[in-house]
Amino acid sequence: MPNNEQPYHRRRPRQKPRYDRLVGVAVVTILAICAVVFVFHALLKKETATPTKSTPTSQSQKSAEKAKTSSDTATSEVKKDKNLPDSKATDWDLVLVNRDNPKDELNPDVVQIGNVWVDARIADATERFLTAAQAINPAEHLISGYRSVDYQTTLYNQYVDQEMAADPSLDREAAEKVVQTYSQPPTKSEHQTGLAIDLSDVDSLNESTTAEQVAAIAPDYGFVLRFPEGGAASTGVEHEDWHFRYVGVANAKYMTEHHLTLEDYVKLLDKK
Ligand SMILES: [Zn+2]
Repeated sequence: MPNNEQPYHRRRPRQKPRYDRLVGVAVVTILAICAVVFVFHALLKKETATPTKSTPTSQSQKSAEKAKTSSDTATSEVKKDKNLPDSKATDWDLVLVNRDNPKDELNPDVVQIGNVWVDARIADATERFLTAAQAINPAEHLISGYRSVDYQTTLYNQYVDQEMAADPSLDREAAEKVVQTYSQPPTKSEHQTGLAIDLSDVDSLNESTTAEQVAAIAPDYGFVLRFPEGGAASTGVEHEDWHFRYVGVANAKYMTEHHLTLEDYVKLLDKK
């Protein structure tokens, strides 16, 4: 209502309430409320709509999705990634050997590099990786490569005996558990593939001072650090700074960029 202090209005006789006007105001108010509720609903619907129902996702939606960090989301996002190498889980260089995937002797065709043996198909990559690692630290050297199932049996039993001798309170089962933190049982060690190498500047596990720099260049030669820190949930093996696995350059780069272990990556390719 107008200000009562204005003389013109003060002189005007007080009008009786006009009901037709009140009804008009009520209708407008109700319409306004309806409009607000409608807009609110529409917004809510848009927010909860699933991406599969919507028309092609906009760039901003895509980047928002990429930003999600849960591993499930990461895996499904990666699945749609057009940069995912055109590889198959059955490719020779992606063969998976671990405690859940034991393999009998694979008899790979091996060649000698320095004092170790590797699958002939990765000889060149191994030599180039070793040379590049030595440019970082001249003390870098190959510690282990291909190990037959027979040799792994001998090695594993030796480790178990050593652990039992060092701690007489351990029974065989307990000693095996200790050993499995650094060496895998026969048929379950990746070294039997001929595609794994142990490379370090020192002969003790996780004591290299240049491990990170060497791991950083590994994908350029087709290798990945196979047991990274925090990877044990999928690999079943604690961090090993010296164990590298050949998977091919494209796979190695993709796995490293997306923080995928070989177990994660093979699962991803299976879903393609
Ligand atoms: Zn190893």
